Amino acid sequence: MATQDNSGRQVRVRFAPSPTGPLHIGGVRTALYNYLFARRNGGKMILRIEDTDSQRFVPGAEDYINEALAWLGIGIDEGVREGGPYGPYKQSERRDIYREHVKLLLDAGKAYLAFDTPDELAKVRAEKPNFQYDASTRMQMRNSLSLPADEVQRLLDSGAQYVVRFRIEPGRDVEVNDLIRGKVVIKSDILDDKVLYKSADDLPTYHLANIVDDHLMLVSHVIRGEEWLPSAPLHVLLYEAFGWADTMPEFVHLPLLLKPDGKGKLSKRDGDRLGFPVFPLLWTDPASGNISSGYRESGYLPEAVVNFLALLGWNPGDDTEIMDMDTLIAKFSLDHCSKAGARFAFEKGKWFNHTYLQAMPDAELAKMFRPVLRRHGVDDSLYTDAQLTRITGMVKDRINFVEDLWEQSGFFFEAPAEYDPKAVKKRWSEDTPRIMGELIEQLRALPSWESKAAEERILGWINENGYHMGNVMNAFRLAVVGACRGPHMFDITEILGADETIARINSAIENVKPAV
Ligand code: GLU
Repeated sequence: MATQDNSGRQVRVRFAPSPTGPLHIGGVRTALYNYLFARRNGGKMILRIEDTDSQRFVPGAEDYINEALAWLGIGIDEGVREGGPYGPYKQSERRDIYREHVKLLLDAGKAYLAFDTPDELAKVRAEKPNFQYDASTRMQMRNSLSLPADEVQRLLDSGAQYVVRFRIEPGRDVEVNDLIRGKVVIKSDILDDKVLYKSADDLPTYHLANIVDDHLMLVSHVIRGEEWLPSAPLHVLLYEAFGWADTMPEFVHLPLLLKPDGKGKLSKRDGDRLGFPVFPLLWTDPASGNISSGYRESGYLPEAVVNFLALLGWNPGDDTEIMDMDTLIAKFSLDHCSKAGARFAFEKGKWFNHTYLQAMPDAELAKMFRPVLRRHGVDDSLYTDAQLTRITGMVKDRINFVEDLWEQSGFFFEAPAEYDPKAVKKRWSEDTPRIMGELIEQLRALPSWESKAAEERILGWINENGYHMGNVMNAFRLAVVGACRGPHMFDITEILGADETIARINSAIENVKPAV
């Protein structure tokens, strides 16, 4: 397998989330694509925690990220937990490195100190609606370019707070080469002198920290969501300013995840409205206590989530849909990533889950069914593995989630407490109790409860008496299941056994009121 990309560098990618809340499903897709690309190319996958925005830090978010990636099988080679040769991998532990790099830019005249207070900035913004801190306005502001040197020194000595701004010169065409989008060119005039560092918390902003770390961690490809594309020209200029243009990573901006109807960007509200999670794991907001649902807790298998996400913005070049992680790795290539936004077709996510559940051995599904049974008040120790395996196997083709096993098979464990009124209306006439009484006699006389043998005898009896096959069998089913659904009738009775089956028919004779 190739270990290098076209430019001859070792492939090193990073997933660089900010711990500002639960990792969004779009972030998970970004992590996955980074991982697939790294593995496909024999490269390394870095997890870097970008926590320089202390105001937006949320406790628990970093653990959540680790847990979500581990659940999905997205392996990390270098990171806060894993360690590695280019650490620390948490930005708040790299302050010295950033300070040093800010100084490099200042010394080279590529950045400057700005002393404008938040109030002063608010005031200019109010006066000039389109105000931008840039080459056209900076000389009217209070910074180390506009103020005399001794004044700057006096401010520093007096402990005045400042920010460091990037000095962007107008008149440049800035080129971003994106491996999915091709060449994107923008004019440097539209960029503002971005803040790179704030003395108040002695921390860099996202832009500086991100570029410095990508450089020092030898990142070869920056694979991230499309929402970061607008930052890319600034990043290109920063690489140049540091003199690192030659080793600038390749940019790859992944398409947006769109609402299921394709109209606009996917949001948490779409999930709430349409009933699907937008987070990998359940999340309890530490401040409000609000709970957001997660794929894991909603009964999705990690393999299904990975498969579903992999196809939101990439295809294998043919119409293969079911691919496990190894297959995805073998097939992954940036050439087949799309530019166009990917509709978040959550129903398809359910289909993937359904398909993965079908592929699971019945015995394994049966194991996962036990806690569901207990939640429904069933003492599952009364049932052997073999029994549960058989029940699971009988109904699994109707389920999208393990939880659905209860809806499909609950009647095996509990006699009906009520009877579906529609089915009663259609299948339970005045004559039915009498026929059900006869059916009980027939069942009692059965030499065997084995499904096939029982079926042959009972159907024979129905035919001999000229009864209506559909009516009798459906009334039978209604009595045993409570509704006209479920697997093969005589498979059900074989599992329930004679006593339980007959008791249920008796109870129906007593309790079902024929529709009038
Ligand atoms: N910290 C940014 C985020 O939260 C990283 C963006 C990037 O990958 O450059 O997504």
